[in-house]
Amino acid sequence: ARVETVTSPSLSADDITSLDASLLWHPYGAFPASTTPLVVAEASGTRLTLADGRELVDGMSSWWAAVHGYRHPVLDAAATAQLGRMSHVMFGGLTHEPAARLAQLLVEITPDGLDKVFLADSGSVSVEVAVKMCLQYWRSRGRPERHRLLTWRGGYHGDTFAPMSVCDPDGGMHSLWTDVLARQVFAGPPPREFDPRYVAEFERLVAAHTGELAAVIVEPVVQGAGGMRFHDPRYLSELRRICDEHGLLLVFDEIATGFGRTGELFAADHAGTRPDIMCVGKALTGGYLTLAATLCSTDVAETISAGDAGGLMHGPTFMANPLACAVAVASIELLLSRDWRGEVEDVRRGLESGLAPAWELPGVRDVRVLGAIGVIELSEPVDMRAATDAAVAAGTWLRPFRNLIYAMPPYVCTSEDVRKITTGMLAAARTSTRG
Ligand code: PMP
Repeated sequence: ARVETVTSPSLSADDITSLDASLLWHPYGAFPASTTPLVVAEASGTRLTLADGRELVDGMSSWWAAVHGYRHPVLDAAATAQLGRMSHVMFGGLTHEPAARLAQLLVEITPDGLDKVFLADSGSVSVEVAVKMCLQYWRSRGRPERHRLLTWRGGYHGDTFAPMSVCDPDGGMHSLWTDVLARQVFAGPPPREFDPRYVAEFERLVAAHTGELAAVIVEPVVQGAGGMRFHDPRYLSELRRICDEHGLLLVFDEIATGFGRTGELFAADHAGTRPDIMCVGKALTGGYLTLAATLCSTDVAETISAGDAGGLMHGPTFMANPLACAVAVASIELLLSRDWRGEVEDVRRGLESGLAPAWELPGVRDVRVLGAIGVIELSEPVDMRAATDAAVAAGTWLRPFRNLIYAMPPYVCTSEDVRKITTGMLAAARTSTRG
């Protein structure tokens, strides 16, 4: 049978730029926009090809996600095969193989005790679901007053309202909303090195609020978009102990750290810690499609289900999208079939040696590397445009923010790719430290 296709006339790069400028919001964007986005024509492997032919090594993995690089043949094949079956069906009253296989895989590879899987459609929604789980858990147990969350300052958990309420409250990106956000309880961010005094202080805060707390929610090992801070994994074991002693649920947001980024499959694995609820997203589909998951313990699931509502009150239209689930299964299997630890370690070594000269630059406060994450922290905010332009001129794609120039490259980067990325980071840092 002849397949009718609808093809739009192709747009020139200038057409795209002008339509974009007049019609499209970008992340945290404004009209008129202060900068013009680069037009990407193609992305393949570790490279973005711009409409004008320039090729950039991607230092961002599309915000932590594209761990295998772009247009990976295995992921392309998984998507194509699934398109031949169905791209989407509703998940109310129906189920399918991609969701079943993905749930089985996730339960298998995440820390023990995470046994039930909610398939959400973005990281923020998976955090919304985690927060709902915590609150519904305590409602089911007849303790609705336990509805506040305790978190670390300097965190980032997403842009919808429940996640925003646990983001960094101090002049952070969501401070516009402080007056209407749920009032949560904040502890200081954990120091990089392990300090028992910090733990004691944290414990005092928990004790002061126990009766109203539902859960502790944190980003384990790396606080990402809130400042790219790292901390000793022993804090996670202490959180587990404190939550057990005070009867609190423990939620790990592994949306950024999951699937190998920090050198362990999940950041929780650095400490062998088992949260009650865990969120994953971003690299779940190798960055191909929008999908996230909230995993929880059987106890959390059964307690919620025994409550008056009779179930977890969340059910998005695109829940468990089969296309995204099929690619997620392929992406996880691909990751596990490769020497991902070796790849992440190679990227780590490349970042460490490539960033060493940053210590010599004026205005550099810290240089840190963990797994496949490299950060140059400056004492002053970067001029984002100048820093991005310098990185692009050096042939790399980076997205500096505040006083941070950072990269989390695809794991499949060659040492030459990583060298290019660190060169771009140094060039970006020099724009801010000049004079
Ligand atoms: N939690 C963390 C730790 C994140 O890094 C992000 C995304 N930057 C989110 C939640 C929100 O995910 P999404 O952007 O997919 O909604």
